[in-house]
Amino acid sequence: MRIALIAHDKKKNEIIELAKKYKDVLAEHELYATGTTGTLIMGETQLPIHRMKSGPMGGDQQIGAMLADGKLDLIIFLRDPLTAQPHEPDVSALLRLCDVQRLPLATNASSATVMLECMKNGIYFNK
Ligand code: PGA
Repeated sequence: MRIALIAHDKKKNEIIELAKKYKDVLAEHELYATGTTGTLIMGETQLPIHRMKSGPMGGDQQIGAMLADGKLDLIIFLRDPLTAQPHEPDVSALLRLCDVQRLPLATNASSATVMLECMKNGIYFNK
């Protein structure tokens, strides 16, 4: 599967912990990420990740373009709901496209854990 990983700044630690815990699961898939998220995860896990631009610089839109082209299968996007984001319109557009395409999307660490546990156990959702 082609999986995109994104985390707002205050959620970076959480996505790194998830990536470490599920490194073996993630290693079986093609990984994409926004710039800073990808750099941090690669540094901590050595997983190969295709990195887009940083989120505020257009990375979310690049992920959205991939999604629109049918080039993604699942997104883990750990959002910070308590901090205003300069690129909120890009975030909303990406989340909207996920629903348009019925793409599996986790927006917090608990739902991401459910997805990763399913993948670990060979359970996949086929939209
Ligand atoms: P970043 O972008 O991984 O470059 O920090 C994430 C975001 O804020 O959308």
